[in-house]
Amino acid sequence: MSTPVIGVLALQGDVREHLVALAAADAVARPVRRPEELAEVDGLVLPGGESTTISKLAVLFGVMDPLRARVRDGMPVYGTCAGMIMLADKILDPRSGQETVGGIDMIVRRNAFGRQNESFEAALDVKGITGDPVEGVFIRAPWVESVGAAAEVLAEHDGHIVAVRQGNALATSFHPELTGDHRVHRFFADMVRAYGAAESL
Ligand code: GLN
Repeated sequence: MSTPVIGVLALQGDVREHLVALAAADAVARPVRRPEELAEVDGLVLPGGESTTISKLAVLFGVMDPLRARVRDGMPVYGTCAGMIMLADKILDPRSGQETVGGIDMIVRRNAFGRQNESFEAALDVKGITGDPVEGVFIRAPWVESVGAAAEVLAEHDGHIVAVRQGNALATSFHPELTGDHRVHRFFADMVRAYGAAESL
C-alpha cells in the first residue's frame, strides 16, 4: 500500500488544512463523518478545534463507538490539539458530557498553555523527525501531564510533554497542518503505510 487512504474526522475543527497536508504527504485524504466512511480509511486524523464539541458530535453521528473499536484494532490515528485530547485515556479537567476515544495511556490538561490570546509558536525537537526543528503552533493547547509505560514521549516544550506515541496512535499539542511543513504528516502517513503493509501479509 504505497498510497494509503487517510481520513480526517470532519465534525468540527481545522479539517481542510489536514486534508491538504496529507495530500502533500502522498496520501489520499478524505473527510470522515459517518461510520461507513470510517470503515473505508486506512488511518484517521483527529483535527484541532474544540474537543468537547467534537466529542458530542462524534456521539451524535454514531461514529464514537466504531472509532473506539478501530483504534483498539490498531488503525493508525493522529490527533492534533483537540485531537490529542480525544486520544487521551484520561482528561484532567473534562467538561460535562465530554468523552474521549482513548488509545494513549496519558492524562491531558486542556487549555494548559493558556487561552486564545496566549497562543504561540516554538521550535521543537521531535523524535522521529529529522532535519530542522519542527515549528510548533500552539493554540489554546493542551499538554500531557503524565504518560503510562506504553506511551513514548516524542517532544517536550518548557518541561511539558507536547508529542506522544503509543503503538499506532500519535498525538501532538501543536498544529503542524498550519505551517506548510508536512514532515509530521509524512511521519504519520508512513505509520499508516507500515500498518497496511503488515496487515496485507
Ligand atoms: N482548547 C481546545 C479544546 O479543549 C483545543 C484547541 C485546539 O484544538 N486548537 O478542545
